[in-house]
Amino acid sequence: MSLFPHVKFLLGAHQPKQFPTDDGAEVAIAGRSNAGKSSAINAMIARQNLARSSKTPGRTQQINFFELVPGQRLVDLPGYGFAKVPVNVRRHWGELLLSYFGQRQSLKGVIVVMDARHPLTNIDSEMIELAATRLLPLHVLLTKSDKLSRSVALKTLAEVRKALAGGATVQLFSATAKTGVDEARDVLKTWLTNRSLA
Ligand code: GDP
Repeated sequence: MSLFPHVKFLLGAHQPKQFPTDDGAEVAIAGRSNAGKSSAINAMIARQNLARSSKTPGRTQQINFFELVPGQRLVDLPGYGFAKVPVNVRRHWGELLLSYFGQRQSLKGVIVVMDARHPLTNIDSEMIELAATRLLPLHVLLTKSDKLSRSVALKTLAEVRKALAGGATVQLFSATAKTGVDEARDVLKTWLTNRSLA
Protein backbone atom coordinates (compact mmCIF):
# COMPACT_ATOMS: atom_id res chain seq x y z
CA MET A 1 0.00 0.00 0.00
CA SER A 2 1.22 3.44 -0.80
CA LEU A 3 2.10 5.61 2.16
CA PHE A 4 1.08 8.75 0.30
CA PRO A 5 -1.65 7.53 -2.07
CA HIS A 6 -2.21 10.94 -3.61
CA VAL A 7 1.40 11.89 -4.16
CA LYS A 8 1.94 13.80 -7.37
CA PHE A 9 4.62 15.62 -9.28
CA LEU A 10 3.80 19.30 -8.88
CA LEU A 11 6.35 21.09 -11.01
CA GLY A 12 9.98 21.47 -11.93
CA ALA A 13 11.46 24.91 -11.36
CA HIS A 14 14.26 26.19 -13.52
CA GLN A 15 13.99 29.69 -12.06
CA PRO A 16 13.14 30.82 -8.51
CA LYS A 17 10.00 32.56 -9.71
CA GLN A 18 8.60 29.17 -10.69
CA PHE A 19 8.77 27.79 -7.12
CA PRO A 20 5.32 26.89 -5.79
CA THR A 21 3.73 29.08 -3.11
CA ASP A 22 5.89 29.05 -0.03
CA ASP A 23 3.38 27.73 2.48
CA GLY A 24 2.90 24.50 4.41
CA ALA A 25 6.01 22.35 4.92
CA GLU A 26 8.58 20.75 2.68
CA VAL A 27 11.68 18.59 3.02
CA ALA A 28 14.50 18.77 0.49
CA ILE A 29 16.51 15.77 -0.60
CA ALA A 30 19.91 16.10 -2.24
CA GLY A 31 22.75 13.87 -3.31
CA ARG A 32 25.43 13.31 -5.89
CA SER A 33 24.28 11.83 -9.16
CA ASN A 34 24.07 8.06 -8.85
CA ALA A 35 24.14 8.11 -5.04
CA GLY A 36 20.74 6.40 -4.99
CA LYS A 37 18.52 9.43 -4.39
CA SER A 38 15.70 8.45 -6.78
CA SER A 39 15.64 4.92 -5.40
CA ALA A 40 15.53 6.30 -1.86
CA ILE A 41 12.62 8.62 -2.72
CA ASN A 42 10.70 5.78 -4.33
CA ALA A 43 11.31 3.52 -1.32
CA MET A 44 10.35 6.20 1.21
CA ILE A 45 7.11 7.16 -0.41
CA ALA A 46 6.38 3.57 -1.40
CA ARG A 47 5.74 4.42 -5.01
CA GLN A 48 7.52 2.75 -7.85
CA ASN A 49 9.21 5.18 -10.14
CA LEU A 50 7.68 8.41 -8.97
CA ALA A 51 11.13 9.92 -8.77
CA ARG A 52 11.73 8.95 -12.33
CA SER A 53 9.83 12.12 -13.14
CA SER A 54 12.90 13.98 -11.92
CA LYS A 55 15.14 12.08 -14.30
CA THR A 56 13.28 12.72 -17.50
CA PRO A 57 15.34 14.83 -19.90
CA GLY A 58 15.22 18.51 -19.03
CA ARG A 59 14.28 17.92 -15.43
CA THR A 60 17.68 16.93 -14.13
CA GLN A 61 18.71 20.57 -13.80
CA GLN A 62 15.53 21.66 -12.11
CA ILE A 63 14.27 21.66 -8.57
CA ASN A 64 11.43 19.15 -8.64
CA PHE A 65 8.51 19.54 -6.24
CA PHE A 66 6.30 16.58 -5.29
CA GLU A 67 3.12 17.03 -3.29
CA LEU A 68 2.78 14.21 -0.75
CA VAL A 69 -0.46 15.53 0.70
CA PRO A 70 -1.78 19.06 0.29
CA GLY A 71 0.58 21.40 2.14
CA GLN A 72 3.37 18.83 2.46
CA ARG A 73 6.04 18.52 -0.22
CA LEU A 74 9.17 16.57 -0.96
CA VAL A 75 11.66 18.60 -2.97
CA ASP A 76 14.14 16.77 -5.14
CA LEU A 77 17.20 18.95 -5.62
CA PRO A 78 19.29 18.45 -8.77
CA GLY A 79 21.97 15.77 -8.53
CA TYR A 80 25.41 17.22 -8.04
CA GLY A 81 28.92 16.06 -8.76
CA PHE A 82 28.70 15.19 -12.40
CA ALA A 83 32.18 15.99 -13.66
CA LYS A 84 31.04 16.23 -17.27
CA VAL A 85 28.54 19.00 -16.69
CA PRO A 86 29.58 22.26 -18.35
CA VAL A 87 30.58 25.12 -16.09
CA ASN A 88 27.63 27.34 -17.05
CA VAL A 89 25.14 24.59 -16.19
CA ARG A 90 26.88 24.01 -12.88
CA ARG A 91 26.74 27.72 -12.14
CA HIS A 92 23.03 27.74 -12.90
CA TRP A 93 22.42 24.88 -10.43
CA GLY A 94 24.50 26.64 -7.82
CA GLU A 95 22.54 29.85 -8.18
CA LEU A 96 19.20 28.04 -8.19
CA LEU A 97 20.15 26.11 -5.02
CA LEU A 98 21.39 29.22 -3.24
CA SER A 99 18.21 31.04 -4.12
CA TYR A 100 16.10 28.11 -2.91
CA PHE A 101 17.94 27.80 0.40
CA GLY A 102 18.04 31.54 0.83
CA GLN A 103 14.32 32.20 0.58
CA ARG A 104 12.29 29.09 1.32
CA GLN A 105 10.38 29.49 4.58
CA SER A 106 8.47 26.22 4.26
CA LEU A 107 11.74 24.23 4.13
CA LYS A 108 11.84 22.25 7.39
CA GLY A 109 14.80 19.94 6.90
CA VAL A 110 17.30 18.48 4.46
CA ILE A 111 18.05 14.85 3.68
CA VAL A 112 21.45 14.23 2.08
CA VAL A 113 21.90 10.94 0.26
CA MET A 114 25.42 9.51 0.08
CA ASP A 115 26.68 6.24 -1.27
CA ALA A 116 27.84 4.42 1.87
CA ARG A 117 30.95 3.34 -0.01
CA HIS A 118 32.02 6.94 -0.71
CA PRO A 119 30.52 9.23 1.93
CA LEU A 120 31.34 12.87 2.66
CA THR A 121 32.85 14.02 -0.59
CA ASN A 122 33.61 17.74 -0.84
CA ILE A 123 30.42 18.37 -2.70
CA ASP A 124 28.40 16.59 0.01
CA SER A 125 30.04 18.83 2.56
CA GLU A 126 28.98 21.90 0.59
CA MET A 127 25.38 20.75 0.69
CA ILE A 128 25.64 20.06 4.43
CA GLU A 129 27.07 23.55 4.89
CA LEU A 130 24.11 25.06 3.02
CA ALA A 131 21.69 23.38 5.41
CA ALA A 132 23.78 24.41 8.40
CA THR A 133 23.80 28.09 7.44
CA ARG A 134 19.99 28.02 7.57
CA LEU A 135 20.14 26.10 10.88
CA LEU A 136 18.00 23.41 9.27
CA PRO A 137 17.90 19.89 10.66
CA LEU A 138 19.92 17.50 8.55
CA HIS A 139 19.52 13.76 8.07
CA VAL A 140 21.99 11.61 6.14
CA LEU A 141 21.08 8.41 4.32
CA LEU A 142 24.07 6.15 3.71
CA THR A 143 22.65 4.31 0.73
CA LYS A 144 23.46 1.01 -0.97
CA SER A 145 24.45 -0.33 2.45
CA ASP A 146 23.60 -3.80 1.10
CA LYS A 147 26.87 -3.56 -0.82
CA LEU A 148 28.87 -3.47 2.42
CA SER A 149 29.39 -6.15 5.03
CA ARG A 150 27.54 -5.48 8.27
CA SER A 151 30.76 -4.64 10.11
CA VAL A 152 32.00 -2.22 7.44
CA ALA A 153 28.56 -0.60 7.23
CA LEU A 154 28.50 -0.04 11.01
CA LYS A 155 32.03 1.32 10.95
CA THR A 156 31.10 3.76 8.20
CA LEU A 157 28.00 4.82 10.13
CA ALA A 158 30.09 5.56 13.21
CA GLU A 159 32.68 7.47 11.19
CA VAL A 160 30.13 9.67 9.43
CA ARG A 161 28.34 10.39 12.71
CA LYS A 162 31.64 11.38 14.25
CA ALA A 163 32.61 13.56 11.29
CA LEU A 164 29.32 15.43 11.48
CA ALA A 165 29.82 15.88 15.21
CA GLY A 166 26.20 15.79 16.28
CA GLY A 167 25.12 18.24 13.60
CA ALA A 168 23.06 15.61 11.82
CA THR A 169 21.29 12.33 12.29
CA VAL A 170 22.77 9.54 10.17
CA GLN A 171 21.46 6.11 9.18
CA LEU A 172 22.20 3.15 6.95
CA PHE A 173 19.81 2.74 4.05
CA SER A 174 19.24 0.31 1.22
CA ALA A 175 16.49 0.70 -1.34
CA THR A 176 17.30 -2.78 -2.66
CA ALA A 177 17.19 -4.58 0.69
CA LYS A 178 14.58 -2.12 2.06
CA THR A 179 16.69 -1.42 5.12
CA GLY A 180 16.23 1.80 7.02
CA VAL A 181 13.12 2.78 5.08
CA ASP A 182 10.89 3.20 8.16
CA GLU A 183 13.55 5.23 9.94
CA ALA A 184 13.88 7.59 6.96
CA ARG A 185 10.12 7.93 6.63
CA ASP A 186 9.80 8.80 10.29
CA VAL A 187 12.23 11.69 9.82
CA LEU A 188 10.33 12.90 6.77
CA LYS A 189 6.94 12.69 8.48
CA THR A 190 8.22 14.28 11.67
CA TRP A 191 9.65 17.30 9.87
CA LEU A 192 6.61 17.70 7.64
CA THR A 193 4.21 17.63 10.54
CA ASN A 194 6.44 19.74 12.75
CA ARG A 195 6.79 17.24 15.55
CA SER A 196 10.12 16.97 17.34
CA LEU A 197 12.23 13.85 16.84
CA ALA A 198 12.05 11.44 19.80
P1 GDP B 1 20.36 8.88 -8.27
O1 GDP B 1 21.11 9.28 -9.49
O2 GDP B 1 21.03 9.37 -7.03
O3 GDP B 1 18.90 9.22 -8.29
O4 GDP B 1 20.52 7.29 -8.17
P2 GDP B 1 19.52 6.08 -8.53
O5 GDP B 1 18.47 5.93 -7.48
O6 GDP B 1 19.07 6.21 -9.92
O7 GDP B 1 20.52 4.86 -8.37
C1 GDP B 1 21.73 4.79 -9.08
C2 GDP B 1 22.11 3.33 -9.27
O8 GDP B 1 22.33 2.72 -8.01
C3 GDP B 1 21.03 2.52 -9.94
O9 GDP B 1 21.65 1.58 -10.78
C4 GDP B 1 20.31 1.83 -8.80
O10 GDP B 1 19.71 0.61 -9.15
C5 GDP B 1 21.45 1.62 -7.80
N1 GDP B 1 20.95 1.64 -6.43
C6 GDP B 1 20.21 2.61 -5.84
N2 GDP B 1 19.94 2.30 -4.56
C7 GDP B 1 20.54 1.11 -4.31
C8 GDP B 1 20.64 0.25 -3.15
O11 GDP B 1 20.12 0.52 -2.07
N3 GDP B 1 21.39 -0.88 -3.29
C9 GDP B 1 22.00 -1.22 -4.45
N4 GDP B 1 22.71 -2.34 -4.48
N5 GDP B 1 21.91 -0.45 -5.58
C10 GDP B 1 21.20 0.70 -5.50
